Amino acid sequence: MRRRRAITRARAPRQATCIDPLPVRHGTCELCEALVSDPSESMFDLVLTGGTVVDPASGTNTRCDVAISGTQISAIGPDLAMRGVQILDCTGSTVVPGLVEGHSHIFQHVSKVGAPADEAHLRRGVVAVADAGTAGASTFSAFRKLVVERNDLRIVNFLNVSVLGLIDFRFGELMNPDTLVVEDALATAAENPDVVRGFKIRLSEDVVGPNWEALLKKSIVLAEQARLPLMVHIGETEAPLPVVLDYLRAGDIVAHCYTGKPHGILDGDRVLPEVIAARERGVLFDSAHGKSNLSFEVARRAISAGFLPDILSSDTSARNWRGPVFDLLTSISKLVALGAPLEECIRRATTAPAALLGLDTEGYGRLEVGGRADVTVLTETSEVELPDAAGNSIVAPRLEPTIVIHNGARVQTVPWRGGAST
Ligand SMILES: [Zn+2]
Repeated sequence: MRRRRAITRARAPRQATCIDPLPVRHGTCELCEALVSDPSESMFDLVLTGGTVVDPASGTNTRCDVAISGTQISAIGPDLAMRGVQILDCTGSTVVPGLVEGHSHIFQHVSKVGAPADEAHLRRGVVAVADAGTAGASTFSAFRKLVVERNDLRIVNFLNVSVLGLIDFRFGELMNPDTLVVEDALATAAENPDVVRGFKIRLSEDVVGPNWEALLKKSIVLAEQARLPLMVHIGETEAPLPVVLDYLRAGDIVAHCYTGKPHGILDGDRVLPEVIAARERGVLFDSAHGKSNLSFEVARRAISAGFLPDILSSDTSARNWRGPVFDLLTSISKLVALGAPLEECIRRATTAPAALLGLDTEGYGRLEVGGRADVTVLTETSEVELPDAAGNSIVAPRLEPTIVIHNGARVQTVPWRGGAST
């Protein structure tokens, strides 16, 4: 695996050795040969230099530097390294906004599927994350106290329409349909607008039993009343996908669009016309890898047909964060390996989920001067075996978050949880 060691050098003290009263800006002093910079021009705390900056929100895809002071980005452009108190060399790497995870399960200590938020996400390059339905109205206050308030990264959620939430995979949270209490969900959303950004229903037969249609209709009414989107988990639904899609509104989300389970998006090699039509009227599709919902076969065909997910998420949970999912960047690496353009994948893991989750108004998902200093530096490793959720694997390079900056500070990353690169 190729890895670069970050170069750090202090710049300020060198100026003291210059005796030229009018030093050359950003150059070498002719008299004393000391490196100098204009004292009237401020220094940056940190400059990420030499990388290719990819920021789909602004359309930036070019080699340049990113300068940070305090918790803000203070400049983006060429030749900023001379003004950096600390300089990190990103040559050969891709510099992107701090990633935004649109679908995860991080209700640790309460739900059996809850992964540790900071460790699974922040320390792997993700600065904001949406929990997708692990908490319901009856467990939300614990989610807020144990997860939202105890982790450093920004956390929002899709509230499970069942008051129970997803506590244990073995027992479908809607097998008793009375657990969908509209008033409780509405009250929780109304009291927690900083966190609740939508609702989630898992529509698989083992979760909803024979009541899928009544429960889906009720969930749509709930989402309509709260003026929030509804995320619908597909795969092993009783009805074919087009029947489910008929109920969804613009802004609603289909999770697990590359599932290999019955009732997915494909008919042979082509994407179902009803899926295309739903996308055209504003229904969103979320890749949400998960333990059992990314099939390389389905993804390869869909990507060849030009069908990329609107939201590229990992569906990380305690069931899969040691494989086959690992983390969001591994999910991105897999779709890139299957032919999805890197910049389009980055868009779907930064600005697109930020907009969906209402986090764009807080500056997430983009790089801009004066904006949040959340930056992830991606370095391609040598080839490694990457598994899907259906028992297949591909051998491809992987994107590793070699530098993660959050609120202007360097995050201590953790190693990839998969096997060693070949
Ligand atoms: Zn999920």
